Amino acid sequence: MDWNTLLASRGARMKASEIRELLKLLDQPDIISFAGGIPDPTLFPAQAFAETFASVMAGPLANSALQYSVSEGYLPLREWLAARMAALGVPCGAENILITSGSQQALDYLGKLLLSPGDTAMVGWPTYLGALGAFNAYEPRYERLDPLDNRPAGELVDAAAPGAVKFAYLTPDFANPTGETLPLAQRHALLDRAEAMGIAVIEDSAYQALRYDGEAVPPILALDVARSGGIENTRTIYCGSFSKTLAPGLRVGWVCAAKPVIQRLVLMKQAADLHSATLNQIVTHQVAEKLFDRHVAGLHATYSARRDALLAALAREMPEGVSWTRPEGGMFIWLTLPEAMDGAALLARAIATEKVAFVPGGAFFADGSNRNTLRLSFSCASPSQIDEGMARLGRVMRSRLEK
Ligand code: PMP
Repeated sequence: MDWNTLLASRGARMKASEIRELLKLLDQPDIISFAGGIPDPTLFPAQAFAETFASVMAGPLANSALQYSVSEGYLPLREWLAARMAALGVPCGAENILITSGSQQALDYLGKLLLSPGDTAMVGWPTYLGALGAFNAYEPRYERLDPLDNRPAGELVDAAAPGAVKFAYLTPDFANPTGETLPLAQRHALLDRAEAMGIAVIEDSAYQALRYDGEAVPPILALDVARSGGIENTRTIYCGSFSKTLAPGLRVGWVCAAKPVIQRLVLMKQAADLHSATLNQIVTHQVAEKLFDRHVAGLHATYSARRDALLAALAREMPEGVSWTRPEGGMFIWLTLPEAMDGAALLARAIATEKVAFVPGGAFFADGSNRNTLRLSFSCASPSQIDEGMARLGRVMRSRLEK
């Protein structure tokens, strides 16, 4: 059977990343890994989930929890989220919220909704790998989005790629992979540009709640609401998630946007999977109501200590010529290596000789450039693993530099 002759052009474009094979080696017990961009499972509120699943199944919601439900999502959860969005400066109602199966599904739907083959998506350089994966199926071109570019909007419109530019996608808070946060002035500048270009802004806020220090910056959607006089006039589509705060396995995320966007996404969800798991939505709502803020405060304490340990270890162990970001939240630190050093080659050597792993940075660039970069995740490593891991990484780097 030759499947290649049957594949749609979008199917033919799908490929596993070069680093997947290397990352498969990480199951070895003695490897210290900074690769996985996942929350620490020991921090999940497992007890609260166990109790809530049991009580929902024993209570009056049991039948509806097991039944089909509306594509928009469980109304009390949407109301809870609308109130949270209002607290972030986005006054809105449940009709502005769609529950998705993780924010990853929202990225897929937004690609499906907005991109025809050959359209241009503006993305960060680097950007979230999973967003490129989601958008790739809709066969776009990518153009570099540099939110720190200070040129006036008019010049940037001229500089845009040929073909219809549809949206700018970014993770403004504690980005994956860099950990960086977009300052307020640049959020405004981005909206100016998006307005001048007549395009949408996709604000991926997966890490928004994980700020450990520094001052909170309002979501781009909040700035957009303030400028345009209400959510119905906005161009920003906000994608949120419970994955980094409660638990990713339940696959509960949401989109907050103007009604015309939500209504179209609801039709898309109806066609794709009808709705996200009813039971998971009900349980997520009850657990969030009970402990969200308290639980997230606990995550802040643990993750910020790990970030601090990693920053201190980097300062101690990294050779001359290596620089890194200093994130105020999230899970990632981004390293830039000397020009000649290749992140993927370094990973192969780091696994083989020192049993330490990370994600090479080239994968996060739509054109595979900037191979002298890498992403470290501090979410799952203890401070002592961080110290040992960075000592190992420092040795691998020095042995490469000496060659
Ligand atoms: N956006 C970003 C920036 C992410 O890092 C992730 C998960 N790694 C997601 C979206 C998707 O998360 P989920 O589907 O679990 O909400």
